[in-house]
Amino acid sequence: MDRARTYAGDMRWGWECPRCKTDVTVTRNRDSETFEWRCPSETCPAVGFGFTSRRRARLGLLEYRERYQETYR
Ligand SMILES: [Zn+2]
Repeated sequence: MDRARTYAGDMRWGWECPRCKTDVTVTRNRDSETFEWRCPSETCPAVGFGFTSRRRARLGLLEYRERYQETYR
């Protein structure tokens, strides 16, 4: 079972930071032609980059959330 694919199809899933629930922004890096997401909170280290599409950035955020929850459960 591919959990990531299942979750990616759920449009109700938002763009919340896994750590602080702040809305994260996805931006395109013009130099490297990749997408990245970054928590806007200065005190929060959550970030992901090097994604080839916005969808992959979203999946990366989801994977980050799952890793975070497994670590701190
Ligand atoms: Zn955050």
